[in-house]
Amino acid sequence: MNIILIGIQGSGKGTQAKLLTKKYGWKHITTGEIFRENINQKTNLGLQAKSYIEKGELVPDSIVYEIVSDAIQKANNGFILDGFPRNLEQTEFLLENFKIDKVVLLELSDEKAIERVMARVNCDSCGKDYNLLFSKPKNDGICDNCGGKIVRRKDDNEIAIKKRIEKFHLETEKAIDYFTEKKLVVKIDVSKGINEILSEIIAKIEQ
Ligand SMILES: [Zn+2]
Repeated sequence: MNIILIGIQGSGKGTQAKLLTKKYGWKHITTGEIFRENINQKTNLGLQAKSYIEKGELVPDSIVYEIVSDAIQKANNGFILDGFPRNLEQTEFLLENFKIDKVVLLELSDEKAIERVMARVNCDSCGKDYNLLFSKPKNDGICDNCGGKIVRRKDDNEIAIKKRIEKFHLETEKAIDYFTEKKLVVKIDVSKGINEILSEIIAKIEQ
């Protein structure tokens, strides 16, 4: 099965993608990851992408499409796309070239998303992740692992988060409308626990 996972920051998209790939043996395709792979392996596409990134420019869509297509063609046993497509053009490209079975939309209000992202912290020394809502350290402000100091990432401040959420709505809403027209979308309320969300996704994609 070929799945697209769409969700705002804080929706637990990465977590669900990992659980689903583990269950079904699909390939988890995230744009960040496949760019890094191509750049590290110095593929032709990777080198082209790198030249734009080094100049501080956006990688042109034509190269993004080739990198995504390459990853999809290597996923023989199905895939979950995460972080692509972000806009209408990318959506059209995808549907013209590949079979997509379901688009799973993880729904969370902006307020809840902000609350969750603001609760994300990690250890200053060993990097262990915590979430003050779901997985707090045993002692406030101190890492369970190494006794290090618990801090928040610099780009997880409220203004930056709101900007990212705004960008998500601006870019992705039209893609969601298009997928909805094609009757591919299943909506999942992600205000529940991780396992409940996973069961609901499985039930809906297997329907
Ligand atoms: Zn630590």
